[in-house]
Amino acid sequence: MGSARAPLGIAQDPPLAPGLYLVATPIGNLEDMTLRGLRVLRSVDRIACEDTRQTQKLLNHFGIATPTVSYHLHNEGPRAEELLEQLKQGARIAVVSDAGTPGIADPGHELVTAAIAEGITVYPIPGANAAVNAIIASGLSTESFTFHGFLPAKEGQRRTSLEELARDEATHVFYEAPHRILDTLEDVAAIFGVAQPVVIAREMTKLHEEFLRGPVSEVHAQLAARAVVRGEMVLLFSPVQKERASEARSIGEEVAALMRTEGISEKDALKRVARERGMGKSEAYRELQRARGR
Ligand code: SAM
Repeated sequence: MGSARAPLGIAQDPPLAPGLYLVATPIGNLEDMTLRGLRVLRSVDRIACEDTRQTQKLLNHFGIATPTVSYHLHNEGPRAEELLEQLKQGARIAVVSDAGTPGIADPGHELVTAAIAEGITVYPIPGANAAVNAIIASGLSTESFTFHGFLPAKEGQRRTSLEELARDEATHVFYEAPHRILDTLEDVAAIFGVAQPVVIAREMTKLHEEFLRGPVSEVHAQLAARAVVRGEMVLLFSPVQKERASEARSIGEEVAALMRTEGISEKDALKRVARERGMGKSEAYRELQRARGR
């Protein structure tokens, strides 16, 4: 009689090598949990979590019973030492944050450097990350980008950080809290001009996912018009010189100039302007119509 077949991905999991596993978890949509991430979470000896209650929901959803231990900003030092001792004795330990990739604006880095110093193998287990997903869908240059994490909460320090940004073609990427986004956009407008194009990636992978693209003044106006600004968000922009930004032409002027100088149709000109501004075609068309209606 043939042996009973084990349920897919449970008894067949090969043993995991000792080491530290940095496991990415979803940033909203549970379908973004990878098969490898699940196997690792199932097979390690312990999971070090930013918030054990948060991670327990994920583990329950996927039927994983691995013991958890808390590992957050406030106990990162002492807990790292404890975990390191276990790793030195050959343990397999996973680190997860509440959402996304551990170590990116989340705990993880201290344990990684300590593990490397002790010769312990560190395995990245890739998956969701808000910054990378915002960049790839922003329409801004992906050739070169700089991730800054969160801007300082205090206005003076925030302005200084913005003023110090390199004014090259690079795309700058920031995590931002919903209660600070309007102030931050005002700072961006003050430093780079009201026409500075920006992108906000909000609630990615969730039901209300949206991308707001356009001059900072318009994106600010769109958000300010809402009763309440909610959700997780990433702010992206590639700074233009203030002079250039404030003197920037309207979509209508740019379209007319392209038709005149390049002899192309309005449709093609609009397509090009939309691409250059990182906007959708229909969004650019609406803006053109709005400008004409004024
Ligand atoms: N480690 C995480 C990662 O890999 O993206 C980021 C952790 S950081 C504490 C949380 C911030 O990431 C949020 O304030 C927001 O700026 C951004 N973020 C996380 N999930 C997001 C989502 N679904 N949509 C947009 N931004 C998100």
